[in-house]
Amino acid sequence: VEAQAAVTFDGQFARELPELAIPWQAEQAPDPRLLVLNEPLAAQLGFDPASLRNAGGLGLLIGNALPHGATPVAQGYAGHQFGSYSPRLGDGRALLLGEILDADGRLRDIHLKGSGRTPFARGGDGLAAVGPMLREYVISEAMHALGIPTTRSLAVVATGQQVRRETMLPGAVLTRVASSHLRVGSFQYARAMDNEDLLRRLADHAIARHHPGAAQAQNPYLALFEAVVEAQASLLARWMLVGFIHGVMNTDNMTISGESIDFGPCAFMDVFNPATVYSSIDEGGRYAYANQPIVAQWNLARLAESLLPLFHEDQEQAVALAQESLGAFHGKYSAEWLAGMKTKLGLAERLDDEAATSLTGELFDLLQEDRVDYTSFFRSLGTAARGDAEPARSMFSNPAAFAAWAQRWRALDPDAELMDRTNPVYIPRNHLVEEALAAAVEGDLEPFSKLLAAVTAPFEERPGFDRYAAAAPEDFGPYRTFCGT
Ligand code: AMP
Ligand code: MG
Ligand code: MG
Repeated sequence: VEAQAAVTFDGQFARELPELAIPWQAEQAPDPRLLVLNEPLAAQLGFDPASLRNAGGLGLLIGNALPHGATPVAQGYAGHQFGSYSPRLGDGRALLLGEILDADGRLRDIHLKGSGRTPFARGGDGLAAVGPMLREYVISEAMHALGIPTTRSLAVVATGQQVRRETMLPGAVLTRVASSHLRVGSFQYARAMDNEDLLRRLADHAIARHHPGAAQAQNPYLALFEAVVEAQASLLARWMLVGFIHGVMNTDNMTISGESIDFGPCAFMDVFNPATVYSSIDEGGRYAYANQPIVAQWNLARLAESLLPLFHEDQEQAVALAQESLGAFHGKYSAEWLAGMKTKLGLAERLDDEAATSLTGELFDLLQEDRVDYTSFFRSLGTAARGDAEPARSMFSNPAAFAAWAQRWRALDPDAELMDRTNPVYIPRNHLVEEALAAAVEGDLEPFSKLLAAVTAPFEERPGFDRYAAAAPEDFGPYRTFCGT
């Protein structure tokens, strides 16, 4: 238990918001085994990585040996799931261990996923399987390496317990790190309690942790809302630019911090198509790639509804204020997206917005028509900026149309180095993720480690990693992802 010596846990959330925190304990794991440990993150959090590998350290990582100051709680929250409201979701299989101060003086949540049933478990078993927890690990770490705000993964520990799904699967706990686990659904839950003092305490907690500037505003709670709108507009632009599809953008899966959270049925788009949906449960395509910004704005409207009593005494005026602030989402999102797209094209400041909009619009038509791999295309465009357009051109069945586009683009003198810093070579490609998880479940962690090495340095092309840069083989077929595992 030396791992905890240098690290002190606080229970700020549990103390300030007891109505949203049920004290609870993790289930005992019969035979814990470490599958993966994030050593750089461990060090940043003040842990001695080596001591997290011994029995005491594993106990800490799964909540079986409580570190000093830890007050584990299941957090309450509500949420709109695929548009329909559930008043009581909460951590059914997760626990917040507490907060710690990291090396940069930032407060970080240490959280467990798959640690057993809680009072919010409803029909669920409270458990998680090795495959999906490793999936969250690799995708969240890839997102971080891509420069996208996200919760992080500290470790995955196999519990030695079997989990019943369609078949019996090995169980695991993911140790998750986040700037907080406050969600839109946390505010929906507090609002539904009809307790304005609680709602205000929750908003004050969110301001202090994430958007301290709002405290100085004339209307701090409206300023909080505006800060969340801005953080989410920026996050959504980054998702879209990199081709990330979250898959389950329910209001309980949208943070107040602006970090990406809950990597269940998410996936990176391979072939460019705005209608792409991978999640097997998203039958209506509600959370399709192109719908994501609209859904984010819809979720933020639910946040505004929850905060209305704090915006203004007069609820009609509160609604008017909320609508105006929410209206800023579209402009912020579009501006960030367009700026990001100019950077992807190596043009940054060299192109005005109108010209950039038509240039990208024409490109997207070509990509969609020829079913071009999104990530490979943008990376190969860096090579085209250096004078060799063949790798990009060869991705089109109609190379003449692309060549005409590329000629206009080249005339703008794109910056190849900027492009290589912006367009990743390696993303967690769906076929590689599936391959790595299948091997890991059989006890071979080598493919997982190699994939992790590729995607945690996504811009740095390296020998021996060619297949990590390549599009899925034809025989991989249409991809489907699954939830709740
Ligand atoms: P998610 O779709 O991951 O955002 O989860 C939605 C809700 O289902 C949350 O309240 C989770 O805590 C709960 N949940 C998901 N899986 C399980 C499980 N195996 N046992 C208990 N609760 C679960
Ligand atoms: Mg969730
Ligand atoms: Mg989930």
